[in-house]
Amino acid sequence: MGSLKLTGIRKSFGAVDVLKGIDLEVADGEFVIFVGPSGCGKSTLLRIIAGLEDASDGRVEIDGRDVSAVPPAKRGIAMVFQTYALYPHLTVRDNMALGLKQAGAAKDTIASQIEMASAMLSLEEYLQRRPAELSGGQRQRVAIGRAIVRDPELFLFDEPLSNLDAALRVNTRLEIARLHREIRSTMVYVTHDQVEAMTLADRIVVLNGGIIEQVGSPMELYNKPANRFVAGFIGSPQ
Ligand code: ADP
Ligand code: MG
Repeated sequence: MGSLKLTGIRKSFGAVDVLKGIDLEVADGEFVIFVGPSGCGKSTLLRIIAGLEDASDGRVEIDGRDVSAVPPAKRGIAMVFQTYALYPHLTVRDNMALGLKQAGAAKDTIASQIEMASAMLSLEEYLQRRPAELSGGQRQRVAIGRAIVRDPELFLFDEPLSNLDAALRVNTRLEIARLHREIRSTMVYVTHDQVEAMTLADRIVVLNGGIIEQVGSPMELYNKPANRFVAGFIGSPQ
């Protein structure tokens, strides 16, 4: 459940080659983090995994199944975006319920999933509020809650902490770590922040210029960087 295999993923926008052949296997339950400078193709890669964008070439497999013909909603994936992407006119409860409703879940299931997720994320008191009545950190917790209720095999996070202030960033990071310990779903997470990568990841993938520079555990990358780019990126804060 929830393993991921990328084979020869390429993506061009017009004449610009953004991804130049990405190969990677992610095991079930693994927490893998893609790091790399702004514009190196991290979001594009997540969008391709989610099915929101087509690759120019290559194959995405989830649980050993080629998903090229599988629409985003049927991939067993939930994605959390940098900008939360909540519906402003819906309450927290309805924002969390929407994906489940669209998937045809029963009312009881929806209610119990929302209860579980809101307890996990300390959102019980906020279920009747609208996004504008929440802080940035609470909004991001709702976005994470909306992902959790769908019980995905695979979570995709695109820089989920980058719009939060420093204190909230630490809190939310710890919450994501706890979430991973509790539910053991596979997580593929994108960031340009080395600290997030070093503290959360089982393995880090360093992306640069559309290719993978190195894959390894945080300690492997720190102790044995494959090249200067990796050494500079992992070693020194930006
Ligand atoms: P990252 O998330 O690592 O910052 P992105 O994946 O968003 O990078 O973008 C990688 C490159 O692809 C950038 O140069 C960006 O301008 C370009 N790009 C992304 N999406 C599109 C698009 N829909 N059309 C044209 N160029 C795009
Ligand atoms: Mg991005």
